[in-house]
Amino acid sequence: MKENTKHVIVIGGGFAGINFVKHLGKDKRFTITLVDRNNYHFFPPLVYQVAAAFIESSNISYPFRRLFQEKSHIRFHMGELKRIDPTEKKVETTTGTLSYDYLVLAMGTGTNYFGFENIAKYAMPMKTLDDAMNLRNHILLRMECAVRSTDPSERNKALNIVIAGGGPTGVELAGILAEMGREIVAKEYPELTDLKSHLYIINSAPVLLPPMSEKAQQEAYTVLNKLGAKIILNTKVVDYVSGNVKLSTGETIPTDTLIWTSGVVAVHVEGLPEGAVARGGRINVDAYNQVMHAESIFALGDQCLLTDDKNYPEGHPQVAQVAIQQGSLLGRNLSRLIEGKPMKPFAYRNKGTMAIISKYRAVADLPKGFLRGSIAWVGWLFVHIIPLISFRNKFVLAMNWAWSFVTNDPTLRLILRPNKEEKVASSKDCKQ
Ligand SMILES: Cc1cc2nc3c(=O)[nH]c(=O)nc-3n(C[C@H](O)[C@H](O)[C@H](O)COP(=O)(O)OP(=O)(O)OC[C@H]3O[C@@H](n4cnc5c(N)ncnc54)[C@H](O)[C@@H]3O)c2cc1C
Repeated sequence: MKENTKHVIVIGGGFAGINFVKHLGKDKRFTITLVDRNNYHFFPPLVYQVAAAFIESSNISYPFRRLFQEKSHIRFHMGELKRIDPTEKKVETTTGTLSYDYLVLAMGTGTNYFGFENIAKYAMPMKTLDDAMNLRNHILLRMECAVRSTDPSERNKALNIVIAGGGPTGVELAGILAEMGREIVAKEYPELTDLKSHLYIINSAPVLLPPMSEKAQQEAYTVLNKLGAKIILNTKVVDYVSGNVKLSTGETIPTDTLIWTSGVVAVHVEGLPEGAVARGGRINVDAYNQVMHAESIFALGDQCLLTDDKNYPEGHPQVAQVAIQQGSLLGRNLSRLIEGKPMKPFAYRNKGTMAIISKYRAVADLPKGFLRGSIAWVGWLFVHIIPLISFRNKFVLAMNWAWSFVTNDPTLRLILRPNKEEKVASSKDCKQ
């Protein structure tokens, strides 16, 4: 580390972490170390399209080291956070211990299975690129199994897909899987002659897209229903035993594929002072994203709960724009802090909420009204291309979308199964 610079450690290079680094990185009075368990930044709102083999994972991800090329004051450390020591100002990761002047926690959330053990063990989550690749392989393997199977009930089980959760992720995933099923299965799996809809979407709320407007909820229901998805509302998935999904109504659905999009919980941080953690495991922060009862520690994005914004007394929704805006503001605020100037409090500017339901159909709740159909869909495409890192990713994604939407025939349906274990006799220092 350079002398006379303040060392900032950022844990988590998602929307919040990367926007923080982008802004603070302009101030050479700081050296920054970004810690992440992956060596890339990725774009969660589009992981479901990777899972459906619609786009490639490299379209929505970018390596951190490439991002920090020629920026010697910003370094990357690959590892997972184990604990923090606020007294010694140290963080322990799975790959080493680091010291900081300021610490920024931006690790987002993990999947919440609400204590259902079998579901946690056997359901497929939908949060990361790894989850998406696992799901893509799994669905393609189940299709091969269905083709070979001579037993109708086994075939049915292989084809059935149950999505637990009717929020934006569940709805978007249901839409794309239903369309892929319709467009591709008939062409590529002619052995499957008795094709009917095998897609279920289960939601505990009485509507789909509960955080959105009533118009958006109705549109989502109508479009998915038309695509043949079986929508079951006011119902919870409560267990998953021997390939049978159990519902709170007592019904069961035989399936090899339960996709869990139902809940999130903030990533737990060992070593935070008492009283710092609030509901949903979120870290309590003040109006400047400073962690309560902790000195020189900040938390951002999905992982924190900020209730000092007068328009959001219950805290902000866990969405990308909140994380981006908080990251950018804290980047600027830390410069003010070391200059002895007052920091600016966070106030969220809501730009609206969108969800894509199927090809050419989306919904958008905007500050000034509601949009649906193809106008909303075009808006959705732009909104999801602009925040991607690098011109290359924006360009390649636009090309891939053009190809996939127009032809209905993306060609990414490869079943790739890399070895889980790295086959290198690593020294102690290099174990991940
Ligand atoms: C499938 C899906 C679809 C979504 N769709 C939308 C949408 O359409 N619109 C919208 O606004 N929002 C959407 N969201 C929510 C949005 O992605 C989040 O609000 C946003 O990503 C939060 O940003 P963040 O930086 O706080 O956390 P994240 O983006 O989750 O980043 C967390 C980072 O921390 C790293 N990390 C986690 N744990 C550790 C650890 N222990 N050690 C080291 N590193 C760690 C992760 O690798 C990751 O890089 C979606 C989320 C998901 C999962």
